[in-house]
Amino acid sequence: MSQLPERIEAGKYIIVKCPKCGRIDKFVVTDEHIKEIEISGISNIAIDHGDHVILVAFDIWGSIRGTYVYKKAQKGKLSDASLDLRYETKKIVIPEASFGESVVLYIFNREEKNLEVYGRSFPELENKVMKILVLMHRIENTLKVSYDLVKMREEDFTTFIVQSKKFSLILTVRDPLDAETEKKILEWLVQAKGLIS
Ligand SMILES: [Zn+2]
Repeated sequence: MSQLPERIEAGKYIIVKCPKCGRIDKFVVTDEHIKEIEISGISNIAIDHGDHVILVAFDIWGSIRGTYVYKKAQKGKLSDASLDLRYETKKIVIPEASFGESVVLYIFNREEKNLEVYGRSFPELENKVMKILVLMHRIENTLKVSYDLVKMREEDFTTFIVQSKKFSLILTVRDPLDAETEKKILEWLVQAKGLIS
């Protein structure tokens, strides 16, 4: 008699081996994952391996549908942010003083799968940022559209994204986000969009 596959539930573990360094991780499935799978058929989790991140996509059977590796580097303070274009480096000026410490900038090179982090990031935030990037990538692939500027509001922070074919700039701001700061951020995003296009 063959065994029927069992759906995963919150609280169950999934084991994954990193295709880059071989490390084995065990992660717990959450209610949030299950909800995501019910909506889109797949959920994912980002696991920090120091100089790289693995992004694991899994389905309702707990089967791993893909493991993607991204290079990652903590590059310094927000004020150090710069964009590495092939023949030049462009400084990204962020009015840090007005944004404060609650802002983190991620520069994702979409072609080279390379994530650079400026500001005080932490794993949970990176996890969310990677998930947002994957979600956008899937939406773009499915709907054959591209989004230039996106704002996403989550429980305790807001994410702004501008992107071109090659780069995604992701700015995360922990709340509270007042109208004045948001206006400055939007102005900055429009400028940044010019830099990466
Ligand atoms: Zn690894």
